[in-house]
Amino acid sequence: MTGLSDGANKVCLRCGSCLSACPVYKKQLNEMVAPRGKMALAEAISHDEMPAKHDTASYLSQCLVCTACMDSCPNNLNVDIRMIAGRSALKRHKIANMPFFAAFRTVLQTRSLMDVGAFFGRLFSRLLFFRVPGESGLHLRFPILVPRSRLLPKIAITPFLKSEKKKRGKEHSSSSKAPYAYFVGCMGNYSCTEVPNQLLALQNKIGGSISVPLDQRCCGMPAIVAGDLQSARKLARRNINVLLKTGAEKIITACGSCGSAIKHYYPALFDDDENTRKSAEEVASRIVDVSELIAHSTTEKTFAVNKDLLKRLGLESEKRVKVTYHESCHLGRRMGVIEAPKQILRRIEGIEFVPMKDENVCCGCGGLFSVHHYDISSAITADKAENIRATGAQIVATGCPACAMQIADGLAHAGLDIPVVHTIELISSS
Ligand code: SF4
Ligand code: SF4
Repeated sequence: MTGLSDGANKVCLRCGSCLSACPVYKKQLNEMVAPRGKMALAEAISHDEMPAKHDTASYLSQCLVCTACMDSCPNNLNVDIRMIAGRSALKRHKIANMPFFAAFRTVLQTRSLMDVGAFFGRLFSRLLFFRVPGESGLHLRFPILVPRSRLLPKIAITPFLKSEKKKRGKEHSSSSKAPYAYFVGCMGNYSCTEVPNQLLALQNKIGGSISVPLDQRCCGMPAIVAGDLQSARKLARRNINVLLKTGAEKIITACGSCGSAIKHYYPALFDDDENTRKSAEEVASRIVDVSELIAHSTTEKTFAVNKDLLKRLGLESEKRVKVTYHESCHLGRRMGVIEAPKQILRRIEGIEFVPMKDENVCCGCGGLFSVHHYDISSAITADKAENIRATGAQIVATGCPACAMQIADGLAHAGLDIPVVHTIELISSS
């Protein structure tokens, strides 16, 4: 992969083959937000050929980094790399996202600060949020960064890594000799802790013991796509060392964004530092998504359904529960994990897998995109909600907690009471 700091060396033909693939362009039909338009801007800014201004920053922020355009590009351009390089140039000129960059430099780097943030979020949750019926999430009482109407994920009572530390002491620290190490990610640690707990409970289906390095940090994906490469490199260095120290043959992720950050962007972050790049490539080569492990490692032809989950969702009396699947851009296009999650769903007894139209079209999240452009983001998610509705599914499965958060918001706005879960949550661990 072309390094992140030097952009790319192939030329855009301006052929327009990518236009129909871009969810953002399709909603606005404005050349400035078409892949070729944004890339031209990104390159001009990266090479100091035009001044960095706020309107340029606004156009460059209108990319989900979903990479859908790259599938249809005859010149195989790394649009994602160019967008990230353009955003990095904006950061150099102090044009965009400065409060977020401050958070990437501080909170994201320090586990204790993130823990404290989650603690206060939880402590003041009655003041800050009101709970949506069921377990689907929270709404803000006042608009802070995002509109009040946006459904936000719940905050776990205790972060997953903290509970692991309490439960297992140093046993699961980085010196463990398990063949698998688990990279948890921030959503799994602070919000949907049921996913990491389920992953550990499925150890028998994964086919080996799993260590959980407790000193892991955020994967850095929010900083990478925002163009804060300095913060991203710092996080990447730390995670590379922590993960290599485990000695694990494979590093498991259950989040498309974390997996693709480590697998694709970590090596690219160090194109000017050979030693770290080699370590990054080593770690990248060991990354595997949990769905691939479960689909390919186990000899079980079928899986029993997770009855506890169905009970929690009020679906325990259903003979066959209809489940559809959303393919996360990072999991599908970036990590190449396309069939494994669907194979799992087809093998779960008591589940009828119903494919949805455009299952691999972006959900509309795109990190800070959904914060800065919630209107466009919601319009893209509304299409996803309509495609889900058309399947008649009772549950949506996906492999990325960020997609799950975005889709849950879209479904709530569409008035659809359909829960979104991680694919592995549907498998019984017994
Ligand atoms: S990465 Fe996605 S949002 Fe960005 S230009 Fe390409 S298709 Fe559009
Ligand atoms: S498909 Fe590729 S070469 Fe054609 S306009 Fe889009 S980015 Fe440029």
